[in-house]
This record gives sequence, C-alpha cells and structure tokens, in this order.
Amino acid sequence: MKITLVRGDITEQDVDAVVNAANSSLLGGGGVDGAIHRKGGPDILDGCRKLRAAQYGGGLPVGQAVATTAGRLPAEWVIHTVGPVYSEADDRSDQLASCYRESLRVADELGVESIAFPAVSAGIYGWPIDDAARIAVGTVRSTPTKVGDARFILFDPDAYAAFERAV
Ligand code: ADP
Repeated sequence: MKITLVRGDITEQDVDAVVNAANSSLLGGGGVDGAIHRKGGPDILDGCRKLRAAQYGGGLPVGQAVATTAGRLPAEWVIHTVGPVYSEADDRSDQLASCYRESLRVADELGVESIAFPAVSAGIYGWPIDDAARIAVGTVRSTPTKVGDARFILFDPDAYAAFERAV
C-alpha cells in the first residue's frame, strides 16, 4: 500500500472514500465532521439518520466504522468512525487503532481503492498529535487490506509535521 501525507482539506480529496472523525450520534459536529456535512450536503446526514434508525439506535460505538454515500463531495463514500476522547488516566490507544482498522475493513467491503483519513481524535477529542500520528500510521501500515492508496490529510502544519515524523 502507498501511504501519502497531504496538507489540506479532506473535503477536497479526489479519492473513493473519505473517513470522517464523527461523534457517536452520527448527526454532525464540529471539526472535520462539520466540514464534511457542510460541503457534502444533506445526503450524508440522510444516510446517517437511516443508519441510526436501522442499526445504531444508541449511536455508533467508539472504534467502529460505517459508510454512507458522499453527497456533493468528490469522493464516492464517507466512512464515519468514532474516535475515543483522549484520557491521561485511561489508555484508549486500542480504540483509536480500531478506528483505522475498521475504516479499512469497511473500505474493503465497498471495494474502495483509495482512501483519505483525517487525524482522528486529534482535534476536539484532544489526542496529543505525535501519539495520534504514530497510532494512525502504524495501524494503517500493518492492517491487511486491498486498499492500495491511503492518504492522511493534515489540516495544520503541526499535524503534518507529526505525521512526517511518524512515517
Ligand atoms: P476529533 O473530534 O476526532 O478530535 P476533529 O474534527 O476535531 O476530530 O479533529 C481531527 C483533526 O482533523 C484535527 O487535527 C483537525 O485539525 C483536523 N481537521 C479539521 N478540519 C479538517 C478538514 N476539513 N480536513 C482535514 N482535517 C481537518
């Protein structure tokens, strides 16, 4: 698999699937989530509402991933995953790794060839960026998948630098 780092906005990526750092409600939020819903339009939220009604009445659990169509985004799919909130007292690294593994599993189910990830949990959820980058890169590298092109889309220079160190 080819892993690329890109500085920019995930909503502009021309890939088969973009990963959303969603919250468990799947009904939208700030950060990447807000940007994806704003730019992708109402189809994404419709898809999320249907998933809530059909399968995830209590919300999508942390570390899991589900897909909707991508509305007006250049991508075909949005894969929503719920990162853990960072905690110093409680090591939630396995949950963060699971977000990447589960996103790739869903991508394989959809036949996705190219995927763009944000730095899950590294914004509002407070995960220190170097550690978030290490888990992200390490997990994507070591997960067996048919996805051939994985990109990390880093919004700010600090995140980009952290992912460069991790790679
Ligand atoms: P979480 O709640 O999982 O922490 P956030 O969306 O708050 O998710 O942040 C995750 C990361 O995504 C942060 O590093 C943030 O700077 C970055 N980010 C915010 N908007 C975008 C965007 N449009 N494209 C790519 N990354 C973004």
